[in-house]
Amino acid sequence: MQNNYDIIIIGGGAAGILAAGRASEKGAQVLLIEKMRSVGRKMLISGKGRCNITNDSYASNHMKQAHPKPKFLKKAYKNFFKDDIMAILDAQGLKYKTERGNRVFPESNKSKDVLDAYSRWALNKNVELLTNTKVIKLITDDNKCIGVEYDRGARKTTVYAKAVILATGGKSYPLTGSTGDGYALAKAVGHKIVTPRPALVPVETKGNLAPRLMGLSLKNTTASLWIDDKKVDEEFGEMLFTHFGLTGPIILTLSRQIVIALANEKKVELKLDMKPALDEQKLDKRLIKDLNENGKKYIENIFKLWMPSKLVKPLMELCNIDSSKLGNQINGDSRKKIRFALKELKFEVIGHRPFSEAIITQGGINTDDIDSKTMESKLIKGLYFAGEVMDVDANTGGYNFQIAYSTAVLAVDSALNNNEN
Ligand SMILES: Cc1cc2nc3c(=O)[nH]c(=O)nc-3n(C[C@H](O)[C@H](O)[C@H](O)COP(=O)(O)OP(=O)(O)OC[C@H]3O[C@@H](n4cnc5c(N)ncnc54)[C@H](O)[C@@H]3O)c2cc1C
Repeated sequence: MQNNYDIIIIGGGAAGILAAGRASEKGAQVLLIEKMRSVGRKMLISGKGRCNITNDSYASNHMKQAHPKPKFLKKAYKNFFKDDIMAILDAQGLKYKTERGNRVFPESNKSKDVLDAYSRWALNKNVELLTNTKVIKLITDDNKCIGVEYDRGARKTTVYAKAVILATGGKSYPLTGSTGDGYALAKAVGHKIVTPRPALVPVETKGNLAPRLMGLSLKNTTASLWIDDKKVDEEFGEMLFTHFGLTGPIILTLSRQIVIALANEKKVELKLDMKPALDEQKLDKRLIKDLNENGKKYIENIFKLWMPSKLVKPLMELCNIDSSKLGNQINGDSRKKIRFALKELKFEVIGHRPFSEAIITQGGINTDDIDSKTMESKLIKGLYFAGEVMDVDANTGGYNFQIAYSTAVLAVDSALNNNEN
């Protein structure tokens, strides 16, 4: 048996492209195999078409945003981090900017420009790219990965290499090619899979309040997550009502825990505090002041001082306040209900959207069987992992791409190092 390549990379997403570029930069002969017609399809839709490339913050912050075992990423970040990725894009002439929350975007706001820059760098003469090609099996010999079998329509072919990198992504947005193939490939050679579940996913709520508010977005809101009547977390920022429930940055961040709680049949509630800067007392003072100053106005018009107009009718109903009432007819009991509606607007969460609407997959190949210093399998020599296929994920903000780049580069560096020895 003859090695056809130094490295075979399975999957041409963010991790696979980075791996190909790094390996070819080091003079390795690379085969990159992609199931879809072209590489980087998820990257094209990332960041709402703008691609949040990375997050310009310290590794300690990246680790804070990562789950479930942030320390697993320490060496990968140390080896290749955000400045390294920006240097690659810079050398390809990509202009970029840093926005709120240290999120890095291309100046053009076009994810295609980012993918083009990566492709120019990575897909050069040392890299043979096979698209429309699905890897169906890892070939092993004596607990060493020596190649892969792929399927190109009618033809099945086996190719050999000194090392194989599995970078097939998770299960979210399957139309981009990420359909969870990597789990089956890894499982077939002995790896354990932590149940993949959607994360960074919108949630479905009971009742018709959210649908009535569809399209309304709230800024400066705190959403607190309650599981079995215990507060477990909260997030401050922006959110959005939809025809099925809630979404937006703070909801997506909390969704990771929500999905797990629902899977364990726990009671899940989200409470919205639309006045987080005011405690009960201060809010009451403000209500009293507005009601006194507008005593002869209809309460509906006074409600508009406290909330977006779309919320007025539903919240008046919730507080049991008749629209014929004037400001000076609102008593202490009604004020209490208004305070409650503004600071503890409760939604029971009854479900979440499917993988097809989840930004990321939590779960995947169990990292206990992967060496965090090399990204090599502890079970099968010569088999490496990169990106979302592993049980690693992070909050929104460019952190997920950085996981893909950093783990991919560490996998390549370790594989080539091993090849030399
Ligand atoms: C809508 C959306 C927006 C996002 N926006 C951002 C963002 O702005 N910033 C950020 O950091 N993260 C973002 N993410 C997350 C980020 O896109 C992923 O974490 C990242 O793409 C993971 O990279 P990956 O290479 O591991 O996997 P993927 O990008 O999923 O790539 C895997 C590749 O493997 C291929 N493949 C699968 N199976 C096989 C097989 N059997 N044989 C051959 N090829 C195969 C697939 O076709 C695919 O091309 C977003 C995700 C989504 C869904």
